[in-house]
Amino acid sequence: MQPDQATQLRQLESQLAAEYQTILSKKLNLDLTRGKPSSDQLDLSDALDGILKGNYIAADGTDTRNYGGLDGLPEAKQLGANIMGVDAANVLVGGSSSLTLMFQVASTAYLFGLKDAASAWKNEGEVKFLCPVPGYDRHFTICEQLGIKMVTVPMTSTGPDMDAVEAAIKADSSIKGMWCVPKYSNPTGVVYSDETVERIAKLGKIASANFRVFWDNAYSVHDLVDNAPQLASILEATRRNGTEDSVLQFASTSKITQAGAGVAFVAASAANLAGFKKALGAQTIGPDKVNQIRHTRFLPDRSALMAHMKKHAELLNPRFEAVLEALAGAFEGTDLGAWEKPVGGYFVSFDTRKGCAKETVRLAAEAGVKLTPAGATYPYGKDPEDRNIRIAPSVPTVPEVVEAMKVFVTCVKLASVRQEIA
Ligand code: PLP
Repeated sequence: MQPDQATQLRQLESQLAAEYQTILSKKLNLDLTRGKPSSDQLDLSDALDGILKGNYIAADGTDTRNYGGLDGLPEAKQLGANIMGVDAANVLVGGSSSLTLMFQVASTAYLFGLKDAASAWKNEGEVKFLCPVPGYDRHFTICEQLGIKMVTVPMTSTGPDMDAVEAAIKADSSIKGMWCVPKYSNPTGVVYSDETVERIAKLGKIASANFRVFWDNAYSVHDLVDNAPQLASILEATRRNGTEDSVLQFASTSKITQAGAGVAFVAASAANLAGFKKALGAQTIGPDKVNQIRHTRFLPDRSALMAHMKKHAELLNPRFEAVLEALAGAFEGTDLGAWEKPVGGYFVSFDTRKGCAKETVRLAAEAGVKLTPAGATYPYGKDPEDRNIRIAPSVPTVPEVVEAMKVFVTCVKLASVRQEIA
């Protein structure tokens, strides 16, 4: 480092340290960790309460208050189909959490096999899953719980790096699955390109037997803009390629109506659904159909669903704008950070310079701004380059997001400058 440059860096460090001290004195208490709807968003679905007005009977005459209907009411399957862009015949409606369904499907595939007992992953020794990173920590927890080893592949601006995915699958027959959040990925906000979707649909041809893609379409209708990017249909792509059994799709109304108290869906081929239902039937007599019918009366068709999602977008948009404006204002044209500009979903993912994420999160926490722990977006909580931070702006108010982002920006700069001086 040139002496002049060193002096300039030290000056910058003291200026930033002074800004940081001013922030400390404000004793803030802000939180950008939670990928959940704000109470204003939850209010949008208050009409669910009391919507049945004593009429519990479904369109096919089913009394929803009674047991039965393992795979859900026909109209609830249609709601899932409207959300996921699939045929109602391929949908199973189960419980209130798609994460639970993912765990149940993964456990079924592991212990009992989705096809037959011989297809169970447990028969095959070591089992591995491909995990695009950064990714969703709860997917990684499912793998850890089942003893499935995680193999990372990088995310790009068009989805997982498909060259890396295909190479890994060809080289290693113990890879039995892959996590995907194809639209507004958690956390990068990326929408998979048509080419990526097509290549994922073809994986069933090159992977070892019983390989399954877990297509977690949690944000399929969660657009923030009018002309939202379209996700190509994985179902059609698998049909074209004769690989229908290689993909299971998941979604829920957690971020449409009430989080954790909505309705969850899995869409899959007839063979996969039959395998899953066999194991599910041992766990329950049937799901909560009263909640299903409440949801179908509230969101009777695709246009009601999309009109409802527009109201969410109106509440979420200013928060995302506040994040993106702060990042652009501070870092555009610098090498201090990189980020995507999502037009949907719940997150903005920010990459600091190598080795600065943990320190940024620590500085922000001391200054009263909670961020998701650095590393959480990687399997085993370990970001090998210590770069990724997930920003979740849905819960704080817009002024709070603006304030929190001022702190965030200062902390990124301070961590970067201190690293350069050290
Ligand atoms: N999948 C993704 C990608 C998520 O981000 C979340 C919640 O943040 C979930 C699933 C959880 O969904 P559910 O509430 O249906 O279990």
